[in-house]
Amino acid sequence: MTKLCDVCKEEIEPLLDQQGNIAWDKGHNPWPLTKDNLGNDLPDDARCCDECNSNVLIARMLDMKRLEQKEA
Ligand SMILES: [Zn+2]
Repeated sequence: MTKLCDVCKEEIEPLLDQQGNIAWDKGHNPWPLTKDNLGNDLPDDARCCDECNSNVLIARMLDMKRLEQKEA
């Protein structure tokens, strides 16, 4: 069963190991996102795809940069 990304509603591509078996198909934690792309609240157990995960990581890094600059 393919899991859908809770943020963009696309299929989460499973990670395969070297033998081609599914190693991980549960996606990523979208924290600190609280809304999906349509503006709906994410469930507590929300999962997101690789693409959304990298967007989340970028948002997280930008946030940290902002905090650093505020403190400097
Ligand atoms: Zn996604």
